[in-house]
Amino acid sequence: MSTITELIHSIPVDPQTGAIAVPIYQTSTFVQEAPGVNKGYDYARSNNPTRETAEKIIAKLEGGATASAFASGLAAIDAVIKLLKSGDEIVAVDDIYGGAFRLFNKVYEKFGIKVNYVDTADTQAVFNAITPATRLIWLETPTNPTLKISDIAAIGRIAKAHNCLFCVDNTFATPVLQQPLALGADLVIHSATKYLGGHSDLIAGIVVSKTQQLGEEIKFYQNACGAILSPFDSFLLIRGVETLHLRVKQHGINAQALAEYLAQHPAVAKVFYPGLPSHPGHELAKQQSKGFGGIISFTLKDDTKAAATAFVTSTHYFKLAESLGGIKSLLCHPAEMTHKSIPAEKRKAAGVSDSLIRLSVGLEETGDLLADLEQAFKQLPVHAHAENVLSA
Ligand SMILES: *Cc1c(COP(=O)(O)O)cnc(C)c1O
Repeated sequence: MSTITELIHSIPVDPQTGAIAVPIYQTSTFVQEAPGVNKGYDYARSNNPTRETAEKIIAKLEGGATASAFASGLAAIDAVIKLLKSGDEIVAVDDIYGGAFRLFNKVYEKFGIKVNYVDTADTQAVFNAITPATRLIWLETPTNPTLKISDIAAIGRIAKAHNCLFCVDNTFATPVLQQPLALGADLVIHSATKYLGGHSDLIAGIVVSKTQQLGEEIKFYQNACGAILSPFDSFLLIRGVETLHLRVKQHGINAQALAEYLAQHPAVAKVFYPGLPSHPGHELAKQQSKGFGGIISFTLKDDTKAAATAFVTSTHYFKLAESLGGIKSLLCHPAEMTHKSIPAEKRKAAGVSDSLIRLSVGLEETGDLLADLEQAFKQLPVHAHAENVLSA
């Protein structure tokens, strides 16, 4: 059976009514026959049939033993960090998602957890950063917004040799393109807000565990700390995941066409997209993934905030917004939006220059998206670099 057929039919028909869509069990508690005698559910923080269905589908997609759904991607990350204790260390990808950075440094540091950030595209750097206190390696591949690719299998071997947990944030790739658990990860997390939900109508997170035992530990924190996904949001997540394969495929087709167009455009300085042979992670991405995803970043020859601002306010279909992974194309200007709080020097060192623009390529017709970018380039002010003189 093909994966997509398996996925569609792993979503159960409601045994009680025959409903083909998963019912939303909007209930807080479940009636018991006698104390402790129930139908597998007692209180909806601990378990809920709608949430359980979402968890099972995503565990299956990632090839994990279990999954636990949370109220956001950050709540999912938070549950993984709770596996650690004071004095433990994390080795993490240096251009980590900003919210994860804030969680690690502003919340967990004060509880005695230390994080070493390294360029994980350099496997040796990961190895060198390990100390006897390292308990967790945290990876994103591709990263945001420079789409850096790290070797999941090689880092998995380092984690195993040092007896530390290995967690991959698989938000950008999705299990359709990349399955970290099969490559040696112990845990996968998602901001299901992005591609898994897929329609920009949901905040959700998920942790998938390779083993039942690790899954039970995560489930303990899910119940003990309580940041669960609601029944209605679980329903939306299921509905999103049902079309994940089709969407990811089309996001990739559109993104490849746009990346190739951008790479030859005279106003563009650099394109970051793992599907381009010029990308330093292209060969590795080809090996460990089935495709290159729907996110592209690029910089302008006129490397100024003014030029980028002019561009991101000139598109029609690409809407200016944070977030990614939905059916509608979005774009953002990290230097002024997602990465604004990072000091300019640090931001630039990470490859996020003033004019860097990130596209989340949606599911519109490829030609319409190309035409949208083309007309935005035509509106670029010739003298936008004047801002350089002012800010120098
Ligand atoms: C958005 C995002 C998160 C955080 O998820 P929320 O659902 O916004 O809490 C984590 N990791 C990555 C890579 C993301 O893009």
